Amino acid sequence: MPLAALVLLAGGCGAKEKTASKSVQENKAGEKMSQEDKTQKTKEEWQTCLTPEEYKIAREKGTEMAFTGKYYNHHEDGIYKCVCCGAELFDSKHKFDSGTGWPSFYQPTKKENVGEVDDKSHGMRRVEVICTKCDAHLGHVFEDGPKPTNLRYCINSASLKFDPAKKD
Ligand SMILES: [Zn+2]
Repeated sequence: MPLAALVLLAGGCGAKEKTASKSVQENKAGEKMSQEDKTQKTKEEWQTCLTPEEYKIAREKGTEMAFTGKYYNHHEDGIYKCVCCGAELFDSKHKFDSGTGWPSFYQPTKKENVGEVDDKSHGMRRVEVICTKCDAHLGHVFEDGPKPTNLRYCINSASLKFDPAKKD
Protein backbone atom coordinates (compact mmCIF):
# COMPACT_ATOMS: atom_id res chain seq x y z
CA MET A 1 0.00 0.00 0.00
CA PRO A 2 2.29 2.77 -1.17
CA LEU A 3 -0.33 5.49 -0.69
CA ALA A 4 -0.87 4.69 2.98
CA ALA A 5 2.85 4.74 3.54
CA LEU A 6 3.05 8.17 2.00
CA VAL A 7 0.28 9.53 4.23
CA LEU A 8 2.02 8.04 7.24
CA LEU A 9 5.24 9.75 6.29
CA ALA A 10 3.55 13.10 5.77
CA GLY A 11 1.94 12.81 9.18
CA GLY A 12 5.25 12.50 10.96
CA CYS A 13 7.23 15.07 12.87
CA GLY A 14 7.44 18.43 11.17
CA ALA A 15 4.28 17.84 9.14
CA LYS A 16 2.92 21.08 10.51
CA GLU A 17 5.60 23.11 8.80
CA LYS A 18 3.92 23.50 5.47
CA THR A 19 5.79 25.17 2.68
CA ALA A 20 3.22 27.97 2.72
CA SER A 21 4.52 29.35 6.01
CA LYS A 22 7.98 29.54 4.53
CA SER A 23 6.95 31.89 1.76
CA VAL A 24 5.10 34.09 4.28
CA GLN A 25 8.31 34.39 6.26
CA GLU A 26 10.17 35.44 3.15
CA ASN A 27 7.55 38.04 2.33
CA LYS A 28 7.88 39.46 5.80
CA ALA A 29 11.66 39.70 5.60
CA GLY A 30 11.36 43.31 4.52
CA GLU A 31 9.70 44.34 7.79
CA LYS A 32 12.06 42.28 9.91
CA MET A 33 13.91 45.34 11.20
CA SER A 34 11.07 46.68 13.32
CA GLN A 35 9.77 43.26 14.39
CA GLU A 36 13.12 41.77 15.25
CA ASP A 37 13.10 42.16 19.03
CA LYS A 38 9.40 41.39 19.39
CA THR A 39 8.28 38.13 20.95
CA GLN A 40 5.59 36.67 18.74
CA LYS A 41 3.91 33.36 19.38
CA THR A 42 0.75 31.68 18.21
CA LYS A 43 -2.25 31.26 20.49
CA GLU A 44 -1.30 27.61 20.99
CA GLU A 45 2.29 28.47 21.89
CA TRP A 46 1.18 31.02 24.49
CA GLN A 47 -1.23 28.50 25.96
CA THR A 48 1.53 25.98 26.49
CA CYS A 49 3.84 28.40 28.32
CA LEU A 50 1.23 30.23 30.46
CA THR A 51 -1.30 29.04 33.02
CA PRO A 52 -4.95 29.34 31.91
CA GLU A 53 -5.37 32.42 34.12
CA GLU A 54 -2.18 34.08 32.87
CA TYR A 55 -3.27 33.40 29.30
CA LYS A 56 -6.74 34.83 29.84
CA ILE A 57 -5.41 38.03 31.40
CA ALA A 58 -2.18 38.68 29.52
CA ARG A 59 -3.23 37.50 26.05
CA GLU A 60 -6.99 38.12 26.09
CA LYS A 61 -7.13 41.33 28.13
CA GLY A 62 -8.79 39.80 31.16
CA THR A 63 -8.73 41.27 34.67
CA GLU A 64 -8.07 39.29 37.81
CA MET A 65 -10.39 39.75 40.79
CA ALA A 66 -9.22 42.42 43.23
CA PHE A 67 -7.30 41.13 46.26
CA THR A 68 -6.75 37.72 44.63
CA GLY A 69 -3.50 38.25 42.75
CA LYS A 70 -0.18 37.11 44.15
CA TYR A 71 1.47 40.55 44.09
CA TYR A 72 -1.04 43.14 45.35
CA ASN A 73 0.25 42.66 48.90
CA HIS A 74 3.81 41.78 48.01
CA HIS A 75 6.64 43.89 49.45
CA GLU A 76 9.92 42.23 48.48
CA ASP A 77 12.66 44.13 46.64
CA GLY A 78 13.10 43.22 43.02
CA ILE A 79 11.88 43.61 39.47
CA TYR A 80 8.47 42.71 38.10
CA LYS A 81 8.86 41.26 34.62
CA CYS A 82 6.42 40.38 31.85
CA VAL A 83 5.01 36.89 32.50
CA CYS A 84 5.00 36.24 28.75
CA CYS A 85 8.41 37.42 27.54
CA GLY A 86 10.41 38.42 30.62
CA ALA A 87 10.80 42.11 29.70
CA GLU A 88 11.52 44.32 32.74
CA LEU A 89 8.38 46.33 33.49
CA PHE A 90 8.22 47.61 37.07
CA ASP A 91 10.56 48.01 40.04
CA SER A 92 9.47 47.28 43.63
CA LYS A 93 10.77 50.72 44.63
CA HIS A 94 8.04 52.33 42.50
CA LYS A 95 5.29 50.13 43.97
CA PHE A 96 2.78 51.61 46.37
CA ASP A 97 -0.26 50.38 48.25
CA SER A 98 -3.21 51.84 46.36
CA GLY A 99 -5.82 49.91 48.34
CA THR A 100 -7.41 48.73 45.08
CA GLY A 101 -6.40 45.08 45.41
CA TRP A 102 -4.11 45.19 42.38
CA PRO A 103 -0.35 45.77 42.35
CA SER A 104 0.14 49.49 41.70
CA PHE A 105 3.19 51.40 40.53
CA TYR A 106 3.70 55.11 39.94
CA GLN A 107 6.09 54.56 37.03
CA PRO A 108 7.52 51.77 34.84
CA THR A 109 11.16 50.81 35.37
CA LYS A 110 11.83 50.92 31.62
CA LYS A 111 9.53 53.31 29.84
CA GLU A 112 10.24 51.79 26.45
CA ASN A 113 8.90 48.40 27.64
CA VAL A 114 5.49 49.72 28.70
CA GLY A 115 3.16 50.98 25.97
CA GLU A 116 -0.18 52.77 26.23
CA VAL A 117 -3.29 52.05 24.18
CA ASP A 118 -6.61 53.89 24.16
CA ASP A 119 -9.24 51.54 25.61
CA LYS A 120 -12.92 52.32 25.13
CA SER A 121 -14.25 48.92 26.26
CA HIS A 122 -16.86 48.43 29.03
CA GLY A 123 -18.34 51.89 28.35
CA MET A 124 -15.30 53.60 29.84
CA ARG A 125 -12.47 55.62 28.43
CA ARG A 126 -9.27 54.20 29.89
CA VAL A 127 -5.64 53.86 28.95
CA GLU A 128 -4.56 50.25 28.68
CA VAL A 129 -0.92 49.42 29.38
CA ILE A 130 0.82 46.69 27.44
CA CYS A 131 4.25 45.10 27.20
CA THR A 132 5.79 46.58 24.06
CA LYS A 133 7.95 43.49 23.53
CA CYS A 134 5.11 40.98 23.20
CA ASP A 135 1.88 43.06 23.37
CA ALA A 136 0.78 41.38 26.61
CA HIS A 137 -2.09 43.11 28.40
CA LEU A 138 -0.83 44.37 31.77
CA GLY A 139 -3.60 46.58 33.15
CA HIS A 140 -4.47 50.29 32.98
CA VAL A 141 -2.88 53.58 33.95
CA PHE A 142 -4.82 56.29 35.79
CA GLU A 143 -3.94 59.86 36.69
CA ASP A 144 -4.71 59.61 40.40
CA GLY A 145 -1.39 58.21 41.60
CA PRO A 146 1.09 59.57 44.12
CA LYS A 147 3.94 61.99 43.50
CA PRO A 148 6.23 62.46 41.68
CA THR A 149 4.32 61.23 38.59
CA ASN A 150 0.70 61.34 39.86
CA LEU A 151 0.22 58.17 37.83
CA ARG A 152 -1.19 54.87 39.00
CA TYR A 153 -0.29 51.84 36.95
CA CYS A 154 -2.92 49.33 38.02
CA ILE A 155 -1.49 45.98 36.96
CA ASN A 156 -2.71 42.39 37.07
CA SER A 157 -0.46 40.09 39.11
CA ALA A 158 -1.07 37.41 36.49
CA SER A 159 0.71 39.52 33.87
CA LEU A 160 3.80 39.79 36.07
CA LYS A 161 6.63 37.52 37.14
CA PHE A 162 8.61 38.74 40.14
CA ASP A 163 12.38 38.52 40.05
CA PRO A 164 13.81 39.11 43.56
CA ALA A 165 16.78 41.44 43.96
CA LYS A 166 20.06 39.71 44.67
CA LYS A 167 21.11 40.15 48.27
CA ASP A 168 24.82 40.77 48.58
ZN1 LIG B 1 6.05 40.84 27.29
